[in-house]
Amino acid sequence: MKIMHTVAELRQWARVGHRASQTIGLVPTMGALHAGHASLIRAARKSCELVAVSIFVNPTQFGPNEDYGRYPRSLEADCKLAEAAGATVVFAPAVEEFYPVGAATFVEVDGLSGRLDGASRPGHFRGVATVVAKLMIASEADRGFFGQKDAAQVAVLRRMVTDLRLAAEIVVCPIVREVDGLAISSRNAYLSVAERTQALTLSRTIRQVEALSVGGERRARVLVEAAGKSFAAEPTIRVDYIELVNWATLEPAETATPGTLFAVAAWVGATRLIDNTILA
Ligand code: AMP
Repeated sequence: MKIMHTVAELRQWARVGHRASQTIGLVPTMGALHAGHASLIRAARKSCELVAVSIFVNPTQFGPNEDYGRYPRSLEADCKLAEAAGATVVFAPAVEEFYPVGAATFVEVDGLSGRLDGASRPGHFRGVATVVAKLMIASEADRGFFGQKDAAQVAVLRRMVTDLRLAAEIVVCPIVREVDGLAISSRNAYLSVAERTQALTLSRTIRQVEALSVGGERRARVLVEAAGKSFAAEPTIRVDYIELVNWATLEPAETATPGTLFAVAAWVGATRLIDNTILA
């Protein structure tokens, strides 16, 4: 596995691969790799001959008071995990390499970017769309692999790929969870032992809503209310949002139909966690 730090190297690698008719899979990450990332890399390796894993803590997707400075960074361990999961290259550019001095070009997905996480994190999806567009272009990706864990991000990126007529197909992989249900996240490392237990409220709530919906409850109001009650039982957690939305538009849905996204975000102490389910 090669480790690359410049766009020129990545582009050269992609050109050689495409000239040899090999397909290129891209797995964008911010590092601190875990089993969720590994599942994306394995999925990419299954369907593409070449796999580029990007490791880049993208400054433009963090708000001024967010955790950019303290986000975990562990390039050496990440490279080992990426290689074991089947990566062909790791692309880990410095900020100045990926955003040259004076960088003034951004990708803005109107409407969608202001919903769910975009509502509480202004500018977040502008940063995500910009970095993923740049990564897809530089890696000449045929497919990009993303986790359902960040379901709103998937909606924004699908819109972006369609609108910019990018070549990459978006592949969505299931949420990988700890044995007790907690969705795996690099940010789980911030949780204290007590918070780690409180954090289970998110996955527990998701399961409750799934059970209600399987039992025939399709009204958004009732599902959202039930989730609200589940969170209220753990008063140390502050809910950011509880929403039932159309997964393509992120607009509120009145009833749950197959494919509707039920998503939650909540603060556990100083850590913001998210979880979701696509209802059957
Ligand atoms: P991040 O490094 O947190 O920006 O995540 C990089 C990619 O990994 C995104 O597409 C995430 O949705 C995906 N991802 C993160 N956690 C998980 C998980 N628990 N299961 C599946 N995919 C995940």
